[in-house]
Amino acid sequence: MSEQKMFTYREAILDTLQKLIRVKSEKSAALPGMPFGEGPAEALRVFLEEASALGFRTGESSGYAGWLEFGPLDKPMVGAVCHLDVVPAQGWPRAYEPELRDGLVIGRGSMDDKGPAVAVLYAMKSLLDEGVEPACRIRLILGLDEESGSSCMAWYTEHEELPLAAFTADADFPVINGEKGHWTFDLVWDEDTRPEQGFTLWSAHNGTRGNVIPGEAVLTYRLTDGSFEEIETIGKMGHASMPQLAKNAIQYALADALARTREADSSNRFLEQASQVLGTAFDGSGLGIAGSDEPSGELTLNVGIFDYNDGQARFRIDIRYPVTWDIEDLRAKRDLALAGTGFSCENEGDSAPLFRPVEDPLVQVLMEAYRKVSGRDDQPLRIGGGTYARAVPNTLAFGPTFPEDENLCHQKGEYITEDTLLTASGIYREALLAMAEHYGKQ
Ligand SMILES: [Zn+2]
Repeated sequence: MSEQKMFTYREAILDTLQKLIRVKSEKSAALPGMPFGEGPAEALRVFLEEASALGFRTGESSGYAGWLEFGPLDKPMVGAVCHLDVVPAQGWPRAYEPELRDGLVIGRGSMDDKGPAVAVLYAMKSLLDEGVEPACRIRLILGLDEESGSSCMAWYTEHEELPLAAFTADADFPVINGEKGHWTFDLVWDEDTRPEQGFTLWSAHNGTRGNVIPGEAVLTYRLTDGSFEEIETIGKMGHASMPQLAKNAIQYALADALARTREADSSNRFLEQASQVLGTAFDGSGLGIAGSDEPSGELTLNVGIFDYNDGQARFRIDIRYPVTWDIEDLRAKRDLALAGTGFSCENEGDSAPLFRPVEDPLVQVLMEAYRKVSGRDDQPLRIGGGTYARAVPNTLAFGPTFPEDENLCHQKGEYITEDTLLTASGIYREALLAMAEHYGKQ
């Protein structure tokens, strides 16, 4: 890959990134002026100090976010969005002691998302050093709370200037031009339908989060003699956005429970209805919402949590729906499927899909920069997960992970390769320049 353009800045990029990794920017209790605690605030201070020394204008937004920029003050703004907070070290003792080894930068935040932030910083520095006079201001926006719900960008978008167009360097290359809608709710059953005596499903407590596909489930049964037995079902753990790679142990445990109940000549209306509504499929067919669209593929459903106590049940449901679909429509279909079943819904949440067709100018500009610098012909991506792009208007996710890169985000041993760092920086440089040109003409 051609990272030559940014090679001049290799030392500076590696130094700055290591300096940032040393700041333990995990979220902690709020302090005055530091809504996410000392770590994220310190990371922003270090970053903006560096940016200011490199010749950028900088600003800070009440401890929630910050930015740096260059270019004509009287022109509109395009840019990039990154974050400086990290997920906890989680049993990785050297997470905050950056290491350079075999062409890797190892440390918490190296890939997610300090490395990409530094790649953008030096992409901008290279444009500044060349004396480029962009037709827009070019700004890097830095958030401090991406890992815990992006309240940083909720603040920024309410109080600060919005970009005319931007990318977030917090996902995969090439451009992600579609992110499925994300709909969550609890499916609740509150009538005890267990028989007075004999074989029955007695209780359960399974799963950890809505977006995690459970790899195992344990159900407790009352046997005909009145004793209790636990039976385990093994599936395959995974992420709710990619159920085709996993097997949901809760759904299979429920199917097993229904079969055992029928075999014992017992009955439990809850189990009959749960099997009808959830089944073992991940396409939402039991809820009457299965289907797909051309840009983004099938709707997927995950049963993340199952609690069953005193005959009352609660499931946490996590659905990723196609980018061109409407939530009101879906809700009506689901309610129709649930009518008369004894299930109701609570704690509902929806994050609308994000979609721009491949003909969209932002998609085009970013893809062109990607192809030109990397020499690769990858196609724009649609995903079931959500990225930081949803938190800022006019923004799409764009790198820094290449299709073949291993990605250890949030895990022990997180790293970014020097090659990815420098190539991404070169792509970002090209993209920022092309965005400024395109949107400056408008
Ligand atoms: Zn991130």
